[in-house]
Amino acid sequence: MNKFLFLFTFFCIVQFPLFAQTSSYCGTTTTDMKWLDHYVEHREQFDPEWGVIYNIPIQVHLVAQDNGSKRMTIPNILKTLAKLNSDMEQAELRFFLKSDFDSLDNSTWYDHDYSQGYEMMNSNNINGALNIYAVGSPAGNCGYYAPSTDAIALAIGCSGGTSSTLTHEMGHMLSLPHTFFGCEGVRYDPTEPISTFKSKIRGTLEKVDQSNCSRAADRFCDTDPDYLSYRWNCNRDGRSTVELKDENGSTFRADGGLFMSYSNDGCANRFSEQQIQAMRANINNRRSSIKKTTLPEDIITSNVPGLILPNSQELDPSNALLSWEEAPNATRYYVHVSRRKSFGGKAVYKGVVSKNTLQLPELLPGKKYYIRFYPYNFVSFDAGYSETFSFNTAEISAVNNNGTTGLQLQSNLIKSGESIRLTNSEQVQMKISISDINGHILFKDRIRAGATLILPAHWSAGVYLLSVKKQNDTKSLYFPIVLY
Ligand SMILES: [Zn+2]
Repeated sequence: MNKFLFLFTFFCIVQFPLFAQTSSYCGTTTTDMKWLDHYVEHREQFDPEWGVIYNIPIQVHLVAQDNGSKRMTIPNILKTLAKLNSDMEQAELRFFLKSDFDSLDNSTWYDHDYSQGYEMMNSNNINGALNIYAVGSPAGNCGYYAPSTDAIALAIGCSGGTSSTLTHEMGHMLSLPHTFFGCEGVRYDPTEPISTFKSKIRGTLEKVDQSNCSRAADRFCDTDPDYLSYRWNCNRDGRSTVELKDENGSTFRADGGLFMSYSNDGCANRFSEQQIQAMRANINNRRSSIKKTTLPEDIITSNVPGLILPNSQELDPSNALLSWEEAPNATRYYVHVSRRKSFGGKAVYKGVVSKNTLQLPELLPGKKYYIRFYPYNFVSFDAGYSETFSFNTAEISAVNNNGTTGLQLQSNLIKSGESIRLTNSEQVQMKISISDINGHILFKDRIRAGATLILPAHWSAGVYLLSVKKQNDTKSLYFPIVLY
């Protein structure tokens, strides 16, 4: 597409969202109606393949400001994706990560207008996946789907485990219009004649008697008429509190249960069967090259059961090596360490690690710390936080790598199959032993004063304890060693 044509197309697409911004919910007003109308007319040619789960790769871009601040947190995006998968289960659609979360630092993209959003998507979209951008403000909306770049922008403030914004935008991406399509940007007023409302909107008003349901509004006959283009709350029956009137004078209330309406998050919980068929047809027809019949990883079946290190001992504050029992099939752990049980305030550590060990920065001696984990992989986002575990640090640094025990170890983290190098810098002989976490001794030896012992770390990956006892000392000291 040449630049001029692009700009023309672009401004045709965005002219309506500028009005729709007052709703601040969704900036999508243009889906591919040409495709949808073709689909509705030839529905019998599309096999919905009920009973077959379509697995769809997504690429999530987490956008921060220029200095890297205000990015959507990992637990928040995981909860958002878990909600998307839970909402889409009824459509037998499952979304998985094509690759790790992408981090972009750009203040213009973080709080963008449609033109800057186009640039962001155009520069960063990944082929072979549906692209989602989590930003601070997507052109003043909770979210929008941009047909020109085929990507979704989502506001961080409209995400999490209870927001259905991403589900709504994914509906757009997979061809669904709003249930009130054509009424975007025009507020329905029950006190004015319907002819006045009709003159202000660009679409056709769907009638209660279903006489025009396949041509009007969203083209689906199993979604009721809806003219409400602002966010609204539902009554106890899941319907709008405002009573609407169609052109025949028939009264109705809009269906707040549908994700493609503008009802509040607490109301929306479903797609209609025809909407589901259209989404599946859209994937099969326009996105068949990316859909998969199997998932690339197994589901996480349970959370982190407990800590391996520290066990009952106190942790050396200057050598705080943590290790935990694996959550089955997890390949990533979001780890959160705090001085507070509530995990409020500044974190001691928060970040993602891809193995079940972590060396923390220097801690304070004689303090209690709390730790929790959110395990995930490219297909499982719903494990949630583990229970909270705690550990204490020792009053003083008892053993460390700096040789205060007189024994030096190159690192506590050693690759399985490589060598462990121990140097005795004392004037006395030392007895050392290495045992596994169950206390079985795997190796023992003595190291003469000033000597270095090199032994192969030929055991499998895991946590081991190195015991050191100087000649004439009565107590042994312990170092954790992690083979990976
Ligand atoms: Zn929308």
